[in-house]
Amino acid sequence: MPRYAMVIDLQRCVGCGSCSIACRSENNVPDGIYWSNKITETSGTFPNVRYHYIPTLCNHCDNAPCVRGCPTRAMHKLENGITMHDPDKCIGCKYCEFNCPYGVIYFNWQKPHPFWQQKDALIKGGTVSPAEETRRAGGKVIPYYNPEREETLPGIRPKGVVEKCTFCDHRVKKGLLPYCVEACPADARIFGDISNPNSEVSKLLGKFRPFRLREQLGTDPHVFYIRDFNPAHYQPTKGGV
Ligand code: SF4
Ligand code: SF4
Repeated sequence: MPRYAMVIDLQRCVGCGSCSIACRSENNVPDGIYWSNKITETSGTFPNVRYHYIPTLCNHCDNAPCVRGCPTRAMHKLENGITMHDPDKCIGCKYCEFNCPYGVIYFNWQKPHPFWQQKDALIKGGTVSPAEETRRAGGKVIPYYNPEREETLPGIRPKGVVEKCTFCDHRVKKGLLPYCVEACPADARIFGDISNPNSEVSKLLGKFRPFRLREQLGTDPHVFYIRDFNPAHYQPTKGGV
């Protein structure tokens, strides 16, 4: 049985956000919910500034506190290491969200995608309504609805339950890469079986010294970061006394 992991190469990542857009369309993710997200940080004072961009997602921790906190086992581990959620078992208590130290679990406070349910035209006499646009596009709730998401989860999760990244388990089980990996124009995301020493992820983890987010907590995250983007240059100098 493989154990899936992702490597994110921060030297290759250009911070374009394609991963997040791809994730949103692949998984029909509602507004205000971010299965794929980022940490940004600017440091220094102009002109000596640095900007850090770290893509984030569920870390599919081996020792997952979200799973331990769930009273109904709605949040659970698959044999391949993916941390999965079952909305049918979820009672919306949000223990998983409180227990996850990474802030990657979101609660559906409202019926998802309310914008696309509006029946009034955005520009009266000029456009159709969002609901009509969805109907004409043949979508379910949203015009860009992806029916393949239904293979392992409700295509759109209902109000009152949590949701988060699943490493695109519905694609992985068909031998496809998570869609954020597929969509990354810089090949900064590398996905594969960490238990196979010949996989690309294993080779990269052997070649570079990786770090993981908050690994001191003992959660054993399976999203690894390597290298660091550094476009800066400076005039050679020996300093001074
Ligand atoms: Fe659970 Fe959070 Fe770890 Fe994902 S990152 S497995 S939601 S504890
Ligand atoms: Fe489990 Fe759902 Fe409660 Fe999270 S919100 S702990 S998944 S029952």
